[in-house]
Amino acid sequence: MSDFESFKAIQKKQKAYQLVLGIASWDSNTEAPKACFPYRSEMLSIVSGEYFSMQTGDEYKKVVNALYENMDDLNDIQQKEIRKAKKDLDKIDKIPKKDFVEYSKLVNMSQREWEEAKENSDFNHFKPYLEKIIKFKKKIAKYRNPDEHPYNVLLDDFEEDMTIEKYDEFFKTVKEELVPFVKKILAVKDDEMPSFITAKYPKDKQKEFVEYLMGVFGFDYDKGLLKESVHPFTWNTHSKDVRFTVRYLENYVFSSIFAAIHELGHALYEQQIDDMFDMTNLKSGASMGIHESQSRFYENMIGRSRMFWEAHYPKLQSMFSPQLKNVSLDDFYKGINRVDETFIRVEADELTYPLHILIRYEIERMIFEDEVEVDDLPALWNKKMKQYLNLEVEDDAQGILQDVHWSAGMMGYFPTYALGSAYSAQIYYAMREQLDFDKLVKDNDIEAINKWLQQNIHCFGKSMTPKEILKRVTGEPFNPKHYIRYLKEKYSELYLNGKE
Ligand SMILES: [Zn+2]
Repeated sequence: MSDFESFKAIQKKQKAYQLVLGIASWDSNTEAPKACFPYRSEMLSIVSGEYFSMQTGDEYKKVVNALYENMDDLNDIQQKEIRKAKKDLDKIDKIPKKDFVEYSKLVNMSQREWEEAKENSDFNHFKPYLEKIIKFKKKIAKYRNPDEHPYNVLLDDFEEDMTIEKYDEFFKTVKEELVPFVKKILAVKDDEMPSFITAKYPKDKQKEFVEYLMGVFGFDYDKGLLKESVHPFTWNTHSKDVRFTVRYLENYVFSSIFAAIHELGHALYEQQIDDMFDMTNLKSGASMGIHESQSRFYENMIGRSRMFWEAHYPKLQSMFSPQLKNVSLDDFYKGINRVDETFIRVEADELTYPLHILIRYEIERMIFEDEVEVDDLPALWNKKMKQYLNLEVEDDAQGILQDVHWSAGMMGYFPTYALGSAYSAQIYYAMREQLDFDKLVKDNDIEAINKWLQQNIHCFGKSMTPKEILKRVTGEPFNPKHYIRYLKEKYSELYLNGKE
């Protein structure tokens, strides 16, 4: 057997474990009864342990390293597979096992403690865990790449090639161009929420409408399904098993609708990846940022556009006649694009959203530059909320404790959310040069848009880097100006009669 054949054989075995663990985790997050978890956790930890050994086993290390040193005999796709395998291997292999085990335990504990801290809005309860996690992250980053800035090591985990320098430049543009514009919009916004937004919409009908949307967007039911869960998410094992979830809020139907379209974006991406990658480690979306660009593209560029609702508002209105019969399309469109200062990131509108991410990026950067103590984080958070969104944070649950990411050790993740939105705008303008986007959306021809995205982005899976994808699709490297242009065009039209 050649080294590459041995590599494929071990990888196939790893994939079998991934499938089993993946299905168990889908079940845990959707239908598993509460009482099953102690037994389940114990059994699954055995399977995870086996899987971990397989990923770090001597035989696997030997073939990956040998292939990495001698890539000339491999074709382009095989080289990409090996490069990725080597990167993944180094990620765990450079960390001493003792530290790895201790860190995994810490993260498990810390998520539970964060939940409790959030419930009681008590940062001090979470503080010792956060301190330990930060210390660990710095240590792990050092093990993995002693010559690199620790935050760069973490940023690269979530978006290949992104660094402090590049994010600084991106967020500088956001700060200079967007912050003053948001202030202008917030000064003229309506203070009152239109009543149709918070009216009661029966859950079973919401579900019916989400199923209608799955048809509109061309979700392939032979390759996936929809369930309910507390937090909406998309899950997949390969291109022919892609599932997503929605949460139906009776008093906030638009949260269900737009979260559904968002997850549909993630799901369509996965369903449209070429199945030649199923048996490789390149089978998923290119990166966090590119994935988020697709979900946001479907959610915002399509789902929150006037053309989309020109096609589908009559259907929504007929299904929810008591709530919407007196709401014109124009008022509906304004209502679903309403800008407001909010404490909570996940409830933020499209325009203020990047400012929530800016705050998190600036804080993470300070943490890894050793410029702030954990003790001072809540005050720093609150200061930035005041600076960027003019809000006084009254308790930590609405402030620094709102997101799960830090308790799960996911530092470096947040910036990809803003990056994904910015990518989506750059892709949007490139698409408009080739397709009559407005007409396709209005004529309910989403299929043509899906096809364009499949040919230009989706089909490649992870075989192209985010950088290569952007260059291929838009003809230029990442450029945040498109994002600023998109937001300014959309919101000046909505709030400032088209003037900036
Ligand atoms: Zn997403």
